[in-house]
Formats: sequence, C-alpha cells, structure tokens
Amino acid sequence: MSATSPTDDYEFTCPQCGEGFAVNDGMRAAVLERGCPICGSPTSTEAFAPCSA
Ligand SMILES: [Zn+2]
Repeated sequence: MSATSPTDDYEFTCPQCGEGFAVNDGMRAAVLERGCPICGSPTSTEAFAPCSA
C-alpha cells in the first residue's frame, strides 16, 4: 500500500448525540450543511477530525 490516493477522510463525532463515523469530503460538507444525520443537531467544523495518515 502506498500513499498514492490521498483520501479526504474525516472522523465525525457528533457533540450532541455522541455518534461517530467516518466521512469523506462530500459527506463532511453535507453534514455541515444539514446537521448530524443521526440526531439532526447542527454541526461545526470542530466536530470533524482529519483521519488520514
Ligand atoms: Zn448527532
């Protein structure tokens, strides 16, 4: 495995319901726009942590 595919992966952790899952860049934008898909709580960029190595 080489680092030829820089995936834009983030680890999302909802500060409201505590649910966490990995998202790509597009999903991250959608969650920021629509809120947490689990509880509907508004989210901010602080809820996302880059998880690319
Ligand atoms: Zn939530």
